[in-house]
Amino acid sequence: MSTQVVVVGAGISGLSAARLLQQSGIDVIVLEARNRLGGRSHTIQDPVHGSVDLGAAYIGPTQNRVLRLVKELGLRLYNVDEKGKSVLSLQSIWSTYTGTVPPLRNPIALVDLNHLLRTIDSMALKVPLDAPWTAEDALKWDFITLQEFVDSIAWTKAAVDIFTILVRSVLTSELHQVSLLFFLWFVHSGNGLVRLGSVTDGAQEKKLYGGAQQLSERMAMLLGDRVHLSCPVKTIVARDHDVFVGDSRGKEYKCQYVICAVPPIVLKNINFTPPLPERKMKLVHSVTMGATFKVNMFYKTAFWKDMGLCGQAISDSGPSGYCVDDTKPDGSHPSLLAFFVADNGQRMSRFSQDERKEALCEHFAKVFKCEKFLKPIGYIEKNWMDEEFSGGCCVCSFPPGVLTKCGRTLREPINRLHFAGTETATEWLGYMDGAIQAGERAAREVLHRLGLIKESDIWQSEPESLDHPARRLTLTWLERSLPSVSGFIQISLSLIVTTVACFVYKYLN
Ligand SMILES: Cc1cc2nc3c(=O)[nH]c(=O)nc-3n(C[C@H](O)[C@H](O)[C@H](O)COP(=O)(O)OP(=O)(O)OC[C@H]3O[C@@H](n4cnc5c(N)ncnc54)[C@H](O)[C@@H]3O)c2cc1C
Repeated sequence: MSTQVVVVGAGISGLSAARLLQQSGIDVIVLEARNRLGGRSHTIQDPVHGSVDLGAAYIGPTQNRVLRLVKELGLRLYNVDEKGKSVLSLQSIWSTYTGTVPPLRNPIALVDLNHLLRTIDSMALKVPLDAPWTAEDALKWDFITLQEFVDSIAWTKAAVDIFTILVRSVLTSELHQVSLLFFLWFVHSGNGLVRLGSVTDGAQEKKLYGGAQQLSERMAMLLGDRVHLSCPVKTIVARDHDVFVGDSRGKEYKCQYVICAVPPIVLKNINFTPPLPERKMKLVHSVTMGATFKVNMFYKTAFWKDMGLCGQAISDSGPSGYCVDDTKPDGSHPSLLAFFVADNGQRMSRFSQDERKEALCEHFAKVFKCEKFLKPIGYIEKNWMDEEFSGGCCVCSFPPGVLTKCGRTLREPINRLHFAGTETATEWLGYMDGAIQAGERAAREVLHRLGLIKESDIWQSEPESLDHPARRLTLTWLERSLPSVSGFIQISLSLIVTTVACFVYKYLN
């Protein structure tokens, strides 16, 4: 079979690429390994519990590409309900709160957490989005782990614990597994820690009625019979001016260009001729994927609302560090959504499904201090570690040293091969929005190679969504002005010294 372009992978990125190519009059075929569309976005329509997003779900302000796609495809969004109080349950503290940053009664811990978050945010701004390896301190930051950095600047256990829960939730990896430079790049691409970690005004603000997989299903519908499911690509052979893409059933597709829209880690399952350059191979073999179970626990009613709680909890013990209400906006299918991530995800995979369910019920009961959580009416989980064609979840992470050594090969075309996928994005990398940016950019690279657009048109910025403009996030005076713990101690010592000096002076005179 012959076509102009083959796109490998029918996730949001591959389908965005194929759609743009099709709109530009290019003949394109999408080959998808799984027997379903959507890749890391996977919605099931459960006969009892309705639509459940087992993968990607949330969309937030500044994610303008996915907001545009939602509108173009005629889908509808709703706001995640954050009315009521969240729970903070650390070994030493239990409290309820509203807003994004959990309250810490110990002022030293509060100062410490604020300093840690502000430091990471300001360092992240120094990492160029399109080439993090060119940051002035790239080498220094790439050769230490995020854990080493946090340990070097944080003073209190409570601040480290809260920061760790945040990182685990967004990266699904442990802090010692990723380089500081990678994390700073990730934070910059998501517009800072507050945007990344928030529900209201943040990346978890909205969900799609009917689930996120519809984005892929609707794009595939527009592509018609150009999308082929159950076709794992096994070989990509470049010969003269053509590329031959072979799938596991021995079927071959001849084309001029290939867009690989798969996570970098699963590129190792494809046999390339000629082989990928050494640095690209090193990248593919060095990146890691996090570990995640995404879990929904269903209840007869959303009784936590009657307790004045919104269903959100942050906890440093038990199977899940973070949970959030997942009841439908009309109040149907009352549910809490939780994640077992990173080392906890690995640990939970050793138990049976029933054991995981029981452990989570007990965790909810303890964290929310309410026995009613022990009586769910349903449980749905998905283990992303078992997904051969994702290689894990949610996003490829870079251990120390990899980004500066091999990062530039992430999206660099190799002859007739181009690379998409959310990992190659510069904005909202790791998210659906990044997947769209990457897919459309790779499609424009091919359009440029075909002489249809100028090189300067390959990268395009996205206008802000008019329907969902982003509210500017500003720091409070206190957040901006609070010193670090060492600064706090220095100020306190100076005050004590000054007071003593004044007292002595007055006494002597
Ligand atoms: C549990 C979970 C929660 C998430 N939550 C959110 C969220 O709330 N919001 C958000 O924006 N993002 C979220 N994400 C991330 C989001 O899912 C991804 O950023 C996005 O879907 C990536 O799209 P992609 O097209 O780049 O890659 P993928 O979705 O991974 O698509 C790649 C496709 O390539 C296919 N493939 C792989 N190998 C081959 C092969 N050899 N041949 C043919 N096809 C192949 C795969 O089957 C897959 O369909 C979450 C992800 C997970 C797993």
